[in-house]
Amino acid sequence: MQLSSLLERFSEPETLKMAKLGRELRAQGVDVIDLSLGEPDFDTPSHIKEAAIKAINDNWSHYTPVPGFLDVREAACTKLKRDNNLDYNPTEIVVSTGAKQSLANAILALVDDGEEVIIPTPYWVTYSELVKIARGKVVEVRTSQASGFKITPQQLEAAITPKTKVFLFSSPCNPSGAVYNKEELKALAEVFKKHPNIFIISDEIYEFINYVGAHESIAQFEELKERIVIVNGLSKGFAMTGWRLGYTASSAIIAKAMEKIQGQTTSGTCSITQKAAVTALTGDLAATWDMTKEFTRRKKRVLELVKEIPGIECSEPDGAFYIFPDVSSFYGKSDGNVVVNNSADFSMYILNTAHVSSVMGAAFGEPDCVRFSFANNIENIERGWARIKDALAKLK
Ligand code: PMP
Repeated sequence: MQLSSLLERFSEPETLKMAKLGRELRAQGVDVIDLSLGEPDFDTPSHIKEAAIKAINDNWSHYTPVPGFLDVREAACTKLKRDNNLDYNPTEIVVSTGAKQSLANAILALVDDGEEVIIPTPYWVTYSELVKIARGKVVEVRTSQASGFKITPQQLEAAITPKTKVFLFSSPCNPSGAVYNKEELKALAEVFKKHPNIFIISDEIYEFINYVGAHESIAQFEELKERIVIVNGLSKGFAMTGWRLGYTASSAIIAKAMEKIQGQTTSGTCSITQKAAVTALTGDLAATWDMTKEFTRRKKRVLELVKEIPGIECSEPDGAFYIFPDVSSFYGKSDGNVVVNNSADFSMYILNTAHVSSVMGAAFGEPDCVRFSFANNIENIERGWARIKDALAKLK
């Protein structure tokens, strides 16, 4: 059967592959602890659920406008002003079926054949694959644990060529947990000011899961604002991964371009979710902060547990709900049965021996590390890390 060549240009998300392998083992009766997935394990806050139930009863059951209902786009503007002190109007907002679609819209609207997209490593698995779908060229800039997994202005400047079209990054970062502060963003902004043809896609989906202070958006630098696409959504901060709503804030020209793409793919996202989004975006954030408080507690615990394991180098994440330790000291070691040569081997070894799922760092462009989520309860985190410790002690 001859399928399209597009399929050969990109890969299936490694995060979903690991979750699938974990589920398969579980189906065989194995007690697998899932530290691979990127979603809050909390229930959606009740005031948001009630808004959705009301929307069903009020018969919000028809097709929705392609860029989203006006009240949702207004709610996004209200949120951007309230939380980020950014001024946008509803013609600059496009609501999509998850931040993943927002990213796809932005990349497809901006990137042409052979144009370069600079992505600091480690990055969320989907970024590079979306660039390949758009026939762009991924330019990875490697950061390290020593630099807090943040790109420096010098590294950025050195990566820019006449073909550079987009700079794409997340802060807080999945998977490293790096959070750029205002000064760091300003230093990057100074570089972009010298290169007026480069667009910036700023993925801020982990905005509320921040352990170091107020969230800073690169869109605060007025001279750059026209060239920035902010990506955000409900999945992480409101525990609404299955509801599927993301949004962008950008110039009206880019918004129109993204609307055109979305108009021929999915159209407007779910009417019920949109109505609930108005409540989520403009409502009380107490439930969100409670979740972040619980993530803080788990982060502390997981760091204590990891510290007890010789050979794992782990820095403290400033945001999101993952640790991203360097496990390269185990490369070349064996339990007498399998040899661990890279991050994929490490993840598979931990899955098969400790029955804990994780995601190999290579999928995020960082071959020395592996991502472990702490979006799981403390009991599972403790059980999981005890098993990992035992499994690693066997590697000689
Ligand atoms: N960006 C990052 C950095 C993410 O981690 C995720 C989800 N794992 C997304 C975007 C996509 O989120 P959504 O569920 O809104 O599609």
